[in-house]
Amino acid sequence: MISRIDLRGRTLSRRELLDELPRAELDVEHAAAAVAPILEQVRAHGAAALRDLSERFDGVRPVHVRVPADVVAAAVGSLDPDVRAALDETIVRVRRVHAAQVPADLTVDVAPGAQVRQRWLPVRRVGLYVPGGLAVYPSSVVMNVVAAQEAGVGSLAVVSPPQKDNGGLPDPVVLATCALLGVDEVYAVGGAQAVAMLAYGAAGSEDVDGATLCEPVDVITGPGNVYVAAAKRLVRGFVGIDSEAGPTEIAVLADGTADAVHVAADLVSQAEHDPLAAAVLVTPSVELADAVEAALVDRVDATANRDRVLTALAGTQSAIVLVDDLEAGLAVVNGYGAEHLEIQTVDAGVWADRVTSAGAIFVGPWSPVSLGDYMAGSNHVLPTGGCAHFASGLGVHSFLRAVQVVEYDRDALAQVADRVVALADAEGLPAHGEAVRARF
Ligand code: NAD
Repeated sequence: MISRIDLRGRTLSRRELLDELPRAELDVEHAAAAVAPILEQVRAHGAAALRDLSERFDGVRPVHVRVPADVVAAAVGSLDPDVRAALDETIVRVRRVHAAQVPADLTVDVAPGAQVRQRWLPVRRVGLYVPGGLAVYPSSVVMNVVAAQEAGVGSLAVVSPPQKDNGGLPDPVVLATCALLGVDEVYAVGGAQAVAMLAYGAAGSEDVDGATLCEPVDVITGPGNVYVAAAKRLVRGFVGIDSEAGPTEIAVLADGTADAVHVAADLVSQAEHDPLAAAVLVTPSVELADAVEAALVDRVDATANRDRVLTALAGTQSAIVLVDDLEAGLAVVNGYGAEHLEIQTVDAGVWADRVTSAGAIFVGPWSPVSLGDYMAGSNHVLPTGGCAHFASGLGVHSFLRAVQVVEYDRDALAQVADRVVALADAEGLPAHGEAVRARF
């Protein structure tokens, strides 16, 4: 059901370790080749392409590409009360964490009369991707929208795939969550075509009711499958993106004290996202590895999304990795850079403090990844595919830019005029120095 990689007794360089680690066969680079023509089709043909591509990939031709605002608002009325209560709770928790993330502007007096300030400015307009292929993700509405709102973004557009069983509209709970958060610009578009619409706009084309379609955005954020992640990679530079938040990954660093049933449950919980989801256990305990494998067999048979889970666990992206000790395990998880990393060991907090690469870390037996997916207050949009080595999860910072403001007075400039000239001459750019000299 899940393969084993035995690293015991082996000393590996970082490069060798990376080669040993489990990764999916279909990665973002390969998916990018598949989605490049989709981006071009949307750029060239606007709304007509969006409808054609929805029919091809989602099996339904949306009547409205932009969901009418009254339809978004009305969705709240049909929310199940328990789901409404859960959404209200997660919105409060996620908002509390993200409000605290807003960085303060800073002012540095470099010398008398010489000041450099740093101001944080929100981007003007953002596009927020909410998945809706194999599963639907109202929780991703919360993660995207609350972070953007707390950053101070004024213009928010949400995209989510049209659902066959909802008349070509996005999932009703997704729509209701948008309404709860005060977002009324929602499009029934998913996949790479949605990313293209957000990046390039479709403002030249009209919806059925004559409504003008999407204006381009400055930043696109949100999770998605490998095709969504690939499309974000292709438009990066044209617009900003958060990170490549692709198919889910869970790594668990565990010792013999971990509860095998809990570890197995957590691996299954993330494997059910996608056949390409990765579930990785890193442990020095063969007994735990055996017990987790046995527990997986029981759980997989009982789980609703059995086929998806089985494919994910059997894929090249999932494995049980045996290591000599927790120190070696730490090196493995740091090399892997998982989207989600659980630490289920004695002194879990001590090991967690030594982690250098992970999208989010879940410490100890009472902090499963499922908590972070919905209710912890942390953001669940996190880097995958090793991007945690250089990227962060979604947060207020994803929507902010730092602008430096420079203000020197006459004396302060005079103080360093000769230094500017010296460096300008050294670079063979004397006009730079002359621009300073001309003032005196
Ligand atoms: P999705 O909305 O991401 O993808 C559905 C879309 O994929 C469809 O609308 C379609 O346009 C496109 N698509 C499907 N097959 C295609 C193909 N062969 N070629 C081109 N486009 C194709 O919904 P999903 O499929 O349910 O995936 C959700 C993903 O989000 C999962 O992989 C899950 O693990 C991931 N996720 C990641 C994070 C994170 O932060 N990293 C968080 C939550 C979910």
